Amino acid sequence: MEFSILAESFNKMESTRKRLELTQFLVELFEKTPHDVISKIVYLIQGKLRPDFEGIELGVSEKLVLRAAKKSLGINENDIITTLNKIGDLGTAISNTLEKKTQTGLFDFGIDSDTYDEAIFDTKANTVERIYEVLWSISQLEGAGKNIQDKKINFISSLWNKSKPTEVKFVTKLLLGTLRLGVAENTVMDALAIAYSGNKENRKKLQHAYNVTSDLGNVAETIATKGIEGIEKFEIILFNPIRPMLADRVKSETEAIEKIGSEFAAEYKLDGERVQIHIEGEKVVLFSRSLERIESYYPDIIEKIPKNIQADNIILEAEAVAINENTGEFLPFQELMHRRRKYKIEKAVTEYPISLNFFDVLYCNGKNCTELSYKERREILEKHVKEDGFAKYIPMNIVKNKNEIEDFMENSINAGSEGLMLKMLDKPYQAGSRGSHWLKLKREYRNELGDSLDLVVIGGYFGKGRRTGNYGTLLLATYDEDEDTFPSICKVGTGFTDESLDQLYQILNSKVSIKKNPRIISEMEADVWFEPELVIEVVASEITLSPIHKAAMNAIRKDAGLALRFPKFTGKIRVEKAVEDASTNEEVITLYKGQKKIAHDKNLM
Ligand code: AMP
Repeated sequence: MEFSILAESFNKMESTRKRLELTQFLVELFEKTPHDVISKIVYLIQGKLRPDFEGIELGVSEKLVLRAAKKSLGINENDIITTLNKIGDLGTAISNTLEKKTQTGLFDFGIDSDTYDEAIFDTKANTVERIYEVLWSISQLEGAGKNIQDKKINFISSLWNKSKPTEVKFVTKLLLGTLRLGVAENTVMDALAIAYSGNKENRKKLQHAYNVTSDLGNVAETIATKGIEGIEKFEIILFNPIRPMLADRVKSETEAIEKIGSEFAAEYKLDGERVQIHIEGEKVVLFSRSLERIESYYPDIIEKIPKNIQADNIILEAEAVAINENTGEFLPFQELMHRRRKYKIEKAVTEYPISLNFFDVLYCNGKNCTELSYKERREILEKHVKEDGFAKYIPMNIVKNKNEIEDFMENSINAGSEGLMLKMLDKPYQAGSRGSHWLKLKREYRNELGDSLDLVVIGGYFGKGRRTGNYGTLLLATYDEDEDTFPSICKVGTGFTDESLDQLYQILNSKVSIKKNPRIISEMEADVWFEPELVIEVVASEITLSPIHKAAMNAIRKDAGLALRFPKFTGKIRVEKAVEDASTNEEVITLYKGQKKIAHDKNLM
């Protein structure tokens, strides 16, 4: 498949942020895509080479691209930099400079076979397959020595060879990880369903396949080659993460009983990090809630856990919680942040010990367990995982009424946890979805105005005074599930300590984007825009109608969104959360209505 087809398509997608238009462009692209390239196309659209959980990195910097441009395109670095300063994107800057330089519109350098490995230049046409293969080769280079840098430059040159300026632009964006089309996974699935089954409704089946394997390329290839029947047979794959099941929140024991019935399981809701553990023999792989590989933070889990397992292979879910080793008490989530470091992890492991608290089993001895009921899964869990001082089952009680829930809630809070998770006994594990089969009852939800929200950081404002050099205020957004966007809801400037500001600065600096991501919906100005990738927790005194903010726009009143009044950062940087797990517009609307109702009830009293 010619790369120019993909580049054309990227160009169109860059020009819009409307979901329907994006879907249409994707359908047109998929219709032109041979089946054996579809998975590559799907990864490339998302600016990746493989699914995120494989952690493939290209490790190409702007500096290296500039060196390659100088060497192989023969264009003056200063010319590119002048354009770059105006445009802010290196891919576009190089292609614009090239366009001026080449009359033919096609760049073709004479190949010097002494300098370059001929094979990578041996192109009849510039195909997606070849571009992908070269990008893959770059990702496989290890180390940072001169030799490796030179090899990378050769590869980059070969990517640009025989390319039109538009192709150069997008290849460069792929190299630098700056291709940001704003195409969400949901939009890709809509388009796949339309292109390969003619029916958008089939998207639900694709969603299921995606939920159990987290690999959109694999899903795409399956529907292209085996149709919907292939998708229906999609199975869990050991060492491919399963997208986690989520819980709805309830405010009181009474509300929980109304939603969940008369007998259910209550588990402690521990305040730690959710870990999905895949094990076969001595091989242990750990995924975070946002499905990143996290073995490096938990060498103690890797070392200790295989001996607790009595199964050939298994996929488990557990909450890793920092503990006080002397008292056995659970410590807050922030303690775990000390483990998120590259160096001296052994020291952090001793200073911040954890316990691992199992609450689910999704696969065991080659069999899918997600379709079994909660009760059956808990039995399998207790049969195949042995407890010791490090590995525990999460404390659980079967409860029948309000008093029993209250009792267990008190125990849970006293042990240092956040509240309870309430789970229906006869329901399966619903990968990747939030629903009322699991409910969360946090202590603070009983206090109406103390509700916390998990919001996405979309913009920043530089601080003054003591905060100079940091972002003093952040612009936050909810997640709009229908549109797959991040509409702004408030600015937050309180609740930060010097330490948390430093931590946030470190994390956010790698997320700065030159252009506002098309999924961000906001008319506010910001000093910097961030890629929507980080979730933080805030509390607020009230939710009000807002002419400025875009969350839940038009839901309560025409032309008004919702905003948080007096928002305050709680100190929790939720690095383990995916932005699609942030508080949704629906949740904010429910809170807004709940607050109105309380005010109304108070007035009647
Ligand atoms: P929240 O982050 O408030 O949406 O709550 C969901 C998170 O609670 C999960 O992602 C887990 O990390 C955590 N959690 C703690 N205890 C449990 C439990 N017993 N069952 C499921 N999740 C739990």
